[in-house]
Amino acid sequence: MLRASELPACPSGDRILVKPEMPETESAGGIAIPETSQHQASFGTLLHAGLAARDQMHDNGHELGDRIWFGQFAGVIAQWDRIIKEGKNPLCAHAEWTRAAPFGVFRTHHFECLECGAKRSQEPILAMKVEDIIANDDLEARMRRGAVRVVRAVDGMGRTQHVIKRKEVSSAAA
Ligand SMILES: [Zn+2]
Repeated sequence: MLRASELPACPSGDRILVKPEMPETESAGGIAIPETSQHQASFGTLLHAGLAARDQMHDNGHELGDRIWFGQFAGVIAQWDRIIKEGKNPLCAHAEWTRAAPFGVFRTHHFECLECGAKRSQEPILAMKVEDIIANDDLEARMRRGAVRVVRAVDGMGRTQHVIKRKEVSSAAA
């Protein structure tokens, strides 16, 4: 069983792993938004990236940990099964888990070990491509505070090319 900070797999090539958020089914004003609504963005946290994905992310200003938007049907869903809180007995075999009801579109199941009290979650994790990222909240925030800016340059063929310039060196780029 995975521990809290461990991810299930390393994405290949230009693929990324994203932890999806529960979709908002009700707006701030109390108006219900149908979950099947077309054109509704999904949101998630960028958790892990393949090698080519890291190159593309760097070119586009994305960083691991960013909150991103993606299309409703982007990528494929796998299960992320892990202990999120250790119990009282580290040697417990976790023979029996209580089970709580699932909720939401991106269902997360929570369990607790009857013996030691360890807490376990089974939640969806999405594998998609960097190009499936529609927008990035944290990149916009970095632009607002001047940590990142867009510069107009010219490529080798004389064509206009806008590029990201960083003022801060991120941990992901190190
Ligand atoms: Zn246990």
